Amino acid sequence: MSMHHNCFVLPLLNEDSLPCSGCVAYQQSESVNGHLTTHNVHVDWLEKRFRSNPSLGQAAADMTNVGIRFFSRRYWKRRWILQELSLSNIHHWYWGQHVLDMSEFPNDWISHLVGSFWMINDGLRKAVEDPARTASERRLTAAVSDDVIGIPFIHRTLGLSSLCNSQSPGMTRFTRKRTWINLLRDFHSSECSEPIDMYYALASMAIPKICVNYSSTVATVFQQFAEAMLDNGEWVWVFYCAAKTVNNQHRERLQLPSWVPDPRSVNFHYGGNAPPPMGIQISQSDSLVCDVRCLGVLYESHEEDLNSRFHLMWDGLFWQVCSSRKALEEISEVIQPSPLQLKARRYAFYVREGDLLCSCLEKLSFEDLWIILRLVDVKTQTYQLIEVQEMSLSRSSSDTEHAQMFSKCPKIKVRIV
Ligand SMILES: [Zn+2]
Repeated sequence: MSMHHNCFVLPLLNEDSLPCSGCVAYQQSESVNGHLTTHNVHVDWLEKRFRSNPSLGQAAADMTNVGIRFFSRRYWKRRWILQELSLSNIHHWYWGQHVLDMSEFPNDWISHLVGSFWMINDGLRKAVEDPARTASERRLTAAVSDDVIGIPFIHRTLGLSSLCNSQSPGMTRFTRKRTWINLLRDFHSSECSEPIDMYYALASMAIPKICVNYSSTVATVFQQFAEAMLDNGEWVWVFYCAAKTVNNQHRERLQLPSWVPDPRSVNFHYGGNAPPPMGIQISQSDSLVCDVRCLGVLYESHEEDLNSRFHLMWDGLFWQVCSSRKALEEISEVIQPSPLQLKARRYAFYVREGDLLCSCLEKLSFEDLWIILRLVDVKTQTYQLIEVQEMSLSRSSSDTEHAQMFSKCPKIKVRIV
């Protein structure tokens, strides 16, 4: 067993014979080739045990469900407890008549415990996968429910584990940087009654620091947060999260600009990291002025059953949009497919013919996040952000050819509102 690994599988099986066979098997596999993960080794071993002894599987499922229920209690879902966990030096947990002194628990114990829940869950699943399973094995199917051990549960509990370690010296495997992106992702399912507390409840822990001002409106707080993230270079994150909340009712009520994420309806899972953009400035009260490469106008493909897929055209609208700057006027206005050939892709239903596909980067990059804009006013080059898509080009050309074609796409300045 490695120094930092505390396996909770045996206690969850209600067995205290040491050592854990999963850990032993992992250690052996590590010394041979090191390709297997401790998770997979445990799951394989548990699967075999649960197959040969279904009542053991049921007992493990019951224990696991107790643990999951504990960490699913309302208390752990409160957003304001997070800073208490993070900022306090001493943690005592009170449970009825019991008092637990957290300093006696090893670092990362919540992570290890939740990891063990996960192993048991997967072991149970695999044990019942076989269609020829017996009736008693089949009964295990509903043992650990996906609703409770889903992604929000995993993120929140791993985040809690990391917060509880904040006062321990040194980094551990599970220590996460207190960036906004990490905290918002981990604690998306943590609740608060005021919308602005989605951000403000984390403000004492997160970097970079933001101004907290309770006299601001919800829309102002959301917008100022997006601006702070843009200032911090997180343009990909901002556009990705904003595009995921394009069509929600809150947004309409608040009249948020299309580039501002609404933290209530986006799970912030995107962790992409793109090079710096050509230019994104916040201008006037609610618009962004962005230098982008216009890759083309989206058209639906009507071939066969590709109805919901799009291809790129350099059409009349494209030339109108791109020729508004004098330097580009000499480009001939021929309607043609964009030299950049997209990989066929299904878009969200609210992408329409005539929407513009743009990149914020000077050069072609596989880290890029392309933005889809809809024209609001051609004279002022004003657009709304509609959708984003990860860069996806057809394989018919080489990377060098794609890079050349990308550089031929004209640069324009757009105002996103
Ligand atoms: Zn183990």
